[in-house]
Amino acid sequence: MKITRIVAYQVDLPLKEGRYAWSGGKAVDVFDSTVVAVETDSGITGYGEVCPLGPFYLPAYAAGARAGIVELGPQLIGCDPRELGQLNDRMDRCLRGHAYVKSAVDMACWDILGKVAGLPVCQLLGGRFGEDVLLYRAISQRSPAEMAENVRQYRDEGYRRFQLKVGGDPDEDIERIRAAAGVLQPGDRLVADANTGWTRHEAVRVVNAVRDIDVYIEQPCLSYEECLSVRRLTPHPFVLDESIDGLQPLLRGHTDLAMDVVNIKISKFGGLTHARQARDLCVSLGIAMTLEDSWGGDIVTAAIAHLAHSTPEPLRFTSTDFNSYVTVANATGAPQREGGRFSASGEPGLGVTPTDAVLANPVLEVA
Ligand code: MG
Repeated sequence: MKITRIVAYQVDLPLKEGRYAWSGGKAVDVFDSTVVAVETDSGITGYGEVCPLGPFYLPAYAAGARAGIVELGPQLIGCDPRELGQLNDRMDRCLRGHAYVKSAVDMACWDILGKVAGLPVCQLLGGRFGEDVLLYRAISQRSPAEMAENVRQYRDEGYRRFQLKVGGDPDEDIERIRAAAGVLQPGDRLVADANTGWTRHEAVRVVNAVRDIDVYIEQPCLSYEECLSVRRLTPHPFVLDESIDGLQPLLRGHTDLAMDVVNIKISKFGGLTHARQARDLCVSLGIAMTLEDSWGGDIVTAAIAHLAHSTPEPLRFTSTDFNSYVTVANATGAPQREGGRFSASGEPGLGVTPTDAVLANPVLEVA
């Protein structure tokens, strides 16, 4: 089987809440997502998606995802999409870095492999652990009272895991954490995600001020070293996200006991192949995980569900359903949240079909 053509489609994903805001005044109103179709000489087509969290979160931006396909795509024509190891080796040799560019291509090739095998991707990734997967809800940065009210509303919808977007003014962040914690019930989990937004002294003030609260602290500062120093000063469970973008930082974090939970985003690692490698390493090392991506629509949500559902439950801290945040569906067949949980499709591949509206609007092709 050979790859004959790669087509990319641009899809706008407006937010149901109108805006998603996080540390340092960063915000997005409409996400710019890229759907990638990998076509083969057997007539099977696989689909992937990549959607950076704006241009200022990770070193990734939406137009870059498409420019990268123009650069990388010609090197992949003629490759066998079922041989994921070879494919990733070729991608890494042809284009250094730019993990997010490779993510949608790799995802689409897993879709092809599943369709050829007649098996859902979660089965190819290790099998289905448990009935379904517990989801978190990200609470966009607003005033403490508004964020507490949003936690209450999403709790009513069934969520039991909440990720508060802090990383703003430390005094207000302390209020945000206290207000949100006040509406939780036993068994719920609260994560304060600063998304690199605090300096070290600010982070130390916040963690000291919320010492009496059952809250996880996520990526307080920009650098790994700053985060590690804060980690060593707080008794709170600690999550690393932006600092962990590959196996080397993951292994260093493990050696330093720098985190209790690590956030595995598919595109941050360069696709399902590398995300699975990191996931399996975390399983072996006993590190719990949030399994997700930077952002996305239905296709990314489907891929997240396959990765998360194939992860052993004790180490599956949480996951997320981005398709419920946005007003546009870019595919059918993706998991739909039920009571704060979702499950991976049982259909072959990712189990998704892009909508006609998406497929009517290709923005580039490589053949
Ligand atoms: Mg995070």
